Amino acid sequence: MSASTEDKTPRTVGDTPKGGSVLGFYAAKGSPRPPRIARGEGVYLWDEGGHRFLDATAGAVVANIGHGNPRVLAAMQEQAARVTFAYPRFFESEQSIELADRVCALAGEGFDRAFFVSGGSEANESAIKLARQYAVVTGQPKRAKVISRNPSYHGSTLGALAVTGDAHTQSIYGPMVREMPKVSAPLSYRIPDGHTAESHALACADELETTIVREGADTVLAFIMEPIGGLSTGAAVAPAVYFERVRSICDRHGVLLIYDEIMSGAGRTGAFLAAHHWAGARPDFVTLAKGLAAGYTPLGALLVPDRIVDAVAGSGGFVHGHTYFTNPLSCAVANAVLGEVIEQDLVRRARDMGELLMARLREVAARSPIVGDVRGKGLFTAIEIVADKATKRQLPASFNAPARLTEHGLKHGIALYNRRANLGAFGDFQMITPPLTITPAEIDELADLLERSLRGLADEIA
Ligand code: PLP
Repeated sequence: MSASTEDKTPRTVGDTPKGGSVLGFYAAKGSPRPPRIARGEGVYLWDEGGHRFLDATAGAVVANIGHGNPRVLAAMQEQAARVTFAYPRFFESEQSIELADRVCALAGEGFDRAFFVSGGSEANESAIKLARQYAVVTGQPKRAKVISRNPSYHGSTLGALAVTGDAHTQSIYGPMVREMPKVSAPLSYRIPDGHTAESHALACADELETTIVREGADTVLAFIMEPIGGLSTGAAVAPAVYFERVRSICDRHGVLLIYDEIMSGAGRTGAFLAAHHWAGARPDFVTLAKGLAAGYTPLGALLVPDRIVDAVAGSGGFVHGHTYFTNPLSCAVANAVLGEVIEQDLVRRARDMGELLMARLREVAARSPIVGDVRGKGLFTAIEIVADKATKRQLPASFNAPARLTEHGLKHGIALYNRRANLGAFGDFQMITPPLTITPAEIDELADLLERSLRGLADEIA
């Protein structure tokens, strides 16, 4: 059944009129609402009216193993019947130990310990606070600045917002947080005149060093970045030299390097960590969430080396925690999710299906007057929507092309998540990040539905 023929439900996504519904607030009776979810299976979701939607972005880049996985549901039920909550200061759980072993093994050398929380923002808060406590206990109390990139997205809590490079959120919450220094992220589509992708990326890395020196190296605690950005840069992939230069700059100045792999981690890019693509430039800390438990439970993780935890342990432990950290139910569910990732060889599959998806997206782009770029790695891909492909000119900000595309997508039976970071100042892109379980036939269907949605958008613009 097609969503366009049957659906009578009024829908809104993105900006809402004054007095209308506000995403996440449920009391606005009678206001326009998105479709109401009924069930999910594999790469598909169905609303209560029976309309099917291909989940082309795995929700918010979350549902890595697809919906309704019976083994994960069984593990959830089994753990729920045993115990769902035991406070971790009183009890450790087999599930969290097993999960830590598994995640650290998948993350590889340099990652010995895992700290589990409820999501991405909490994981980044934990990373920043652990870095700070490490600096304090190792006699570097002046180190308190965390440099990050512009654009970037590291979460919505106030600490994570302080390191998020987004002028829109800063315009609202900036006065409430300690402004942290920002450096340019190397974007790949609009490279400044006179630069190649490599020279531009190296200039961005060198800006990090200039900033560390300007701020005073002994005051800089860490540099946090998304190795491949999602909401921030739309899957822009920097050349390898960038990662190597950043690593050596951090080493030179004693600055901890944190990779936020909340979107890019857990296999999505065709490696368990995106960091694995640049093996000579490993970070000190990695944060994960989203695909780690793949939407079956809220979960985030911070992975760190022994030396950091050992230093903090000597001072009485990490002065930080949340009620739901190391939750046994969440850990059991994530264990089952990672079991599926391993057994179905989903990391390799992300690589193989990623190539197929990229080829299909390039065909769609070639036929579309408004798709200016296709980029990404593995199944972490994006298209960029422009007014003019030759000049790369953007559509007017007031048009909000990504939100419009989502509207067209819902009419055609494809769910396209996006959130317009920086009010589109760095481009209007649409992530295409389906579950890693997607089949070649489903990729064809995704490309077809996306093309129809893009045609609707192009007609609206013409
Ligand atoms: N970091 C990155 C790179 C993200 O993409 C997100 C969420 O989209 C977050 C952090 C925040 O994660 P959460 O929404 O689970 O708090």
